Amino acid sequence: MSHFNCKCGEVISDTADNLDYKYYVLPDTKLDEVSTSFTDLIDSFVQAIERGKREEWINQHFGKGYPNGVEASGMLHDLLSSKLVNVIKEMFICQNCGRLLLEKENFQSFLPEKL
Ligand SMILES: [Zn+2]
Repeated sequence: MSHFNCKCGEVISDTADNLDYKYYVLPDTKLDEVSTSFTDLIDSFVQAIERGKREEWINQHFGKGYPNGVEASGMLHDLLSSKLVNVIKEMFICQNCGRLLLEKENFQSFLPEKL
């Protein structure tokens, strides 16, 4: 999504990183699933290294096109991101009216009681 309108008429842009009005929400029902999945991946990565099968593990989880020389922290970042992307919801705060727009099937908006 690149742009959408708030009910007040403000155009909310989602075309850059590090937006100070954009947030991510992780549903409580998904927290354990993501956490367990991620820690299981860390365990399997450590075990692969111990068995001398680091490259095989990388190919299995990222495919052969994954760049060489990526630090373990970079790979774990990529894995965590891949686990989160399917469960997190986006949330925006309108810079004009203060509405909170939470991703559901579309965006559901909530107007603050006081500005
Ligand atoms: Zn607004």
